[in-house]
Parts: sequence; C-alpha cells; structure tokens
Amino acid sequence: MIRFASIAALFLLLLVAAGGSGCQQGGGNRYLRTPAAVRFKPVRSPIMLRSVSRLAREVNIKVRIMPSNSPQRRGSRRLRPSFITIHSTANHSSTSTAMQHSRALCGGAFTNRSWHFTVDQFMCVQNLPLKETGWHAGTPAGNHNSIGIEMCECENRGHNHFRTWDRAAKLTAVLMKRYGINLRRVVPHYHWTRKNCPMPLLTNGKPGPKWAWFHSRVDYYFRCINNGKSFR
Ligand SMILES: [Zn+2]
Repeated sequence: MIRFASIAALFLLLLVAAGGSGCQQGGGNRYLRTPAAVRFKPVRSPIMLRSVSRLAREVNIKVRIMPSNSPQRRGSRRLRPSFITIHSTANHSSTSTAMQHSRALCGGAFTNRSWHFTVDQFMCVQNLPLKETGWHAGTPAGNHNSIGIEMCECENRGHNHFRTWDRAAKLTAVLMKRYGINLRRVVPHYHWTRKNCPMPLLTNGKPGPKWAWFHSRVDYYFRCINNGKSFR
C-alpha cells in the first residue's frame, strides 16, 4: 500500500513537473502568442509557381555550420521553430558580407551571439543546424522558439539592399512552408525586446510601412510555392 502510494505520488509529481515546464517555456509568455496580422498591399505580380526546393535554390544557401565545440553551440537547446526572427547586422563596412559574418561566427569572433542564417545580395550562409537554438533574440522565448535570420548591410560598390531583403523574403517563405509557420509569426527582432532591429525595415524604430512591404514580399514568395494561397 505504501509502495503504491509512493508510486502514485511520483506520478503526480511528474505530471506537475511536465505541466510546470510547459508553462515556463511558453504558455505564460505573451510574446509567444501569434501577433496581429500586418496590413499590407499584396504584391500584384503574377504568381510564378515553383517547388520549395526550386525557391531554396534561388536563395543560394551555403552550409557552414559553426564548430560543435563553440561556446554558443555547447549551450544550445532543441529549437522549436514556430517563429522566424528577422535581424539586420548594422555593420556597414564594405567587407561585412554573409560569408564574412559566417567566418567570424565560425572563428569565434562573436562570443555570446549566434543565429541560423546570414543573407546578403548574392547568397545565404547557414551557420547553425535548424534543430538547435541560437542566441539572437535577446529573450529565452525568442531564442527557444525562433529561427534567426541576419540581413547584411555592407556598403560596397554595387551593393543593393533591395536584393538582400528580397533574398531574405524568399528564405523566410521557404522556412514558413517547411515548418508550417504562419506569416503573422514572421517578426522583427523588435518583437522580443523592442530593439530597433532590423533598422532598415523599421520606421522610427517600430514596424511600419517598410516592415509591411517586407511581409508583402514574403507573402508573394509563399504564394509562389503554395499554389497561390497565402498563410496568414
Ligand atoms: Zn537583431
């Protein structure tokens, strides 16, 4: 009888622990609720239907994963990708390309930051496996639940920020499709911490017309790989 009681108590304890951790990881965090839809004018260009893998090829993704013994990866957890967080590097030097950022990450130049993808106008570099959390959002909820995309701001001859943002929009659409993430959960870094990031796509430090434009691009590319249908 005593034994049965202790087993029952243990079972109860496990139930409470499971419920408690679920709440701690998200249920109580208002930032994990699906945000209100961003209002935007849909892109009117005709839909060019293509497969997800075709759009992913257009993004031109190179995989260069950070060393597994880097401090950021040793401290990582299992990622639950239900948000996509968009950042901008705020680094205007002419050499601050996607590949340079990836080299810096892999070489240990960023000791307390990591993110999944870096995008410039020519390519995208993947720095972390998509099953691992990065350190980019500034809050545990943001890090544990979102894929981090950094957009480069390098200023060199021939730079074209529009192409960088457009490539990031394509990548975002691919990830939305792969993980079933609603467009409403494509958020600026601002969403988690009120930081002015991605600065070039915010208006006076907040989501406004430029952020709405970015959502319209993501929506357009998502429709191109989803038989013309939006997901928002
Ligand atoms: Zn940021």
